[in-house]
Amino acid sequence: MSKIAILGDIHSNIDALNVVLDDCRAQGVEEFLCTGDVVGYNACPRECLEIVRSLGCPVVMGNHDYYVCSEDLNLDDFNPHAAMVVQWTRDQLSAEDLQWLRDLPFTKTVKGMTLVHSTMDRPETFGYVFDNLQAQANFTNQKTPVCFHGHTHCPMIYEHSINGVYRIDPQDFKLQMGRKYFINVGSVGQPRDGDPRATYVIYDNMAKTVTFRRLEYDIAAAQARIRAAGLPERLAERLAEGH
Ligand code: ZN
Repeated sequence: MSKIAILGDIHSNIDALNVVLDDCRAQGVEEFLCTGDVVGYNACPRECLEIVRSLGCPVVMGNHDYYVCSEDLNLDDFNPHAAMVVQWTRDQLSAEDLQWLRDLPFTKTVKGMTLVHSTMDRPETFGYVFDNLQAQANFTNQKTPVCFHGHTHCPMIYEHSINGVYRIDPQDFKLQMGRKYFINVGSVGQPRDGDPRATYVIYDNMAKTVTFRRLEYDIAAAQARIRAAGLPERLAERLAEGH
């Protein structure tokens, strides 16, 4: 094994996911990992779930996966649009799909790498990591040299060494021995860092290199599916804005 693709926050966006998987094939990716939020926001939860399941790869639970599969969760605390999308997504999925989501773990360690949707600091509460202090709380609980995550939809590298925690903008990067890395792989289906292109990471675990991939996809097609499904217009608009 050397080239591993880490995909996260796919969020039911089949147009973005297909382009990402084509790119994985072109890049010679041999294995996949998924940092969760397969569903939510966009209009193709069933199709995206089927593809991710067919990859047969390790997947961890995202907060949207959790909302959708927890049928006794009270949606009154959600804003009306969010509650509507959760309910709509539930209605698209089979009982088997929902059970598959329910069975997802919050964290997973695979061959010396950790996967988590949000942070290793109480992963079941889905806290956001946007700064070094929040990343430090993760590192306290991160037992492997590399941990991949998502949740903010903003790609980022956090590095932990004896000098403390540093934030490194997403770029081609070689991991250093004796340090720990907490790497946000960005979002396949709803990027929020101002760049609307689909994002994922290729990790070469022999060369210890990380590559952030950014890919154009047919945003208009994804928007048309959202509108055809009757989902909130804002979800279509934000795809083009990358926020
Ligand atoms: Zn997400």
